[in-house]
Amino acid sequence: MTTQGTNLDQRYSHYADRTAGLAASEVRALFAVASRPEVVSLAGGMPFVSALPKELVSGAMERVMRDSGPAALQYGSGQGLPQLREQILEVMALEGIRAGVDDLVVTTGSQHALELITKLFVNPGDVVLAEAPSYVTALTVFKSFQAEVAHVAMDDFGLVPQALRETIERVRAEGKPIKFLYTIPTFSNPAGVTLTWERRLEILEICRSNDILVLEDNPYGLLYFEGQPPHAMRSVEEDGVIYLGTFSKTLAPGFRVGWALAPHAIREKIILANEAAVLSPSSFTQYVIHEYLSGSDWKGQIDTFRGVYRERRDAMLHALGDYLPDLSWTNPAGGFYVWVTLPENLDSKSMLPRAVKELVAYTPGTAFYADGSGRNKIRLSFCYPTPDFIREGIRRLSTVINGELELLTTFSQTAPLPVVRDSSLINPPANLS
Ligand code: PMP
Repeated sequence: MTTQGTNLDQRYSHYADRTAGLAASEVRALFAVASRPEVVSLAGGMPFVSALPKELVSGAMERVMRDSGPAALQYGSGQGLPQLREQILEVMALEGIRAGVDDLVVTTGSQHALELITKLFVNPGDVVLAEAPSYVTALTVFKSFQAEVAHVAMDDFGLVPQALRETIERVRAEGKPIKFLYTIPTFSNPAGVTLTWERRLEILEICRSNDILVLEDNPYGLLYFEGQPPHAMRSVEEDGVIYLGTFSKTLAPGFRVGWALAPHAIREKIILANEAAVLSPSSFTQYVIHEYLSGSDWKGQIDTFRGVYRERRDAMLHALGDYLPDLSWTNPAGGFYVWVTLPENLDSKSMLPRAVKELVAYTPGTAFYADGSGRNKIRLSFCYPTPDFIREGIRRLSTVINGELELLTTFSQTAPLPVVRDSSLINPPANLS
């Protein structure tokens, strides 16, 4: 045990510098606990795949094996299956995007596209601009390439253009190179807000005039509940935008099929990086999705998903209004997430073990910032539990929050709060099970 421990320590010292950013995220640490059946998990962002009829997938798989078995089981193109890329153009057209089949690269989920693009652009110390709060696993990617993340403020209407201007100015004054702006303009993860059309144009203009590439990540755009959101930023700007899409939320994440749409020169590099990483994305799942899109009412299926998530969003907003009326939260018109602001003096990370004891899980706000902000924020996901469980989860959460507030009031009436010097005493353990 001791010998092994020493060896591991020694080996650890040989890890590349870039691994310093690879720490388990709050979301990851939560999964073990949140998957216990008695816990209502409002934490992870898992699509409700049970709303996808199994026969639609098994039928497509059978047809693939019958008609294209050897090709589907073989290595494929590093750019992705041409006939699937044709269909991806149709999917993107729903959000106003016009592109050619050669402009696309299929990746192993859009997560992999995020990694490839960061790998292509970011040297240690380069700056990535990212809205605040931002997608936790994108931040992990940026950190793993030793990028410095400069957050840009957002409000209920998405990224704030003036904040973007000021951040660019500040970073440039410090002499640091900015590599791209990472944004989730539609139904953002975690904030659930959508960038208005006017702001989309303004932000594109700011980036154009400052020669900054936009990385537009759009996994949720087709999951709208109140009429179509504004078209993608890529629909008005070809040269300055790399657009990421995925089948994870409109079909199922288990296929691991996403894509990047990029200006010509960048796209060539992405293909090379894709080949270096995986040779080719999974032929089999690309064939199955191609068959699914050819042979079933995929738009009707997206409608079904919208209905399921709309009902759950409503359940969450009503429950918040009933049980936690004094808090504030965002009002998502699509996607998976509500972003809740707790009273200033609450710390959502240190409150988490208590929540888990009450059998409810959420994601603490600090996960979504590179700079430790977000202490009194939480992300609640409404995508997975049924409406009844969502309501029960919010009820339990209200017990936790009210209990915590009472405790603080008691402390403040008796003695000052203790200063905790050892952060392991207030941080949840990595494995909460
Ligand atoms: N971007 C965002 C904003 C996401 O929320 C997710 C999944 N949670 C991804 C990218 C990655 O999705 P996938 O790799 O499944 O396409």
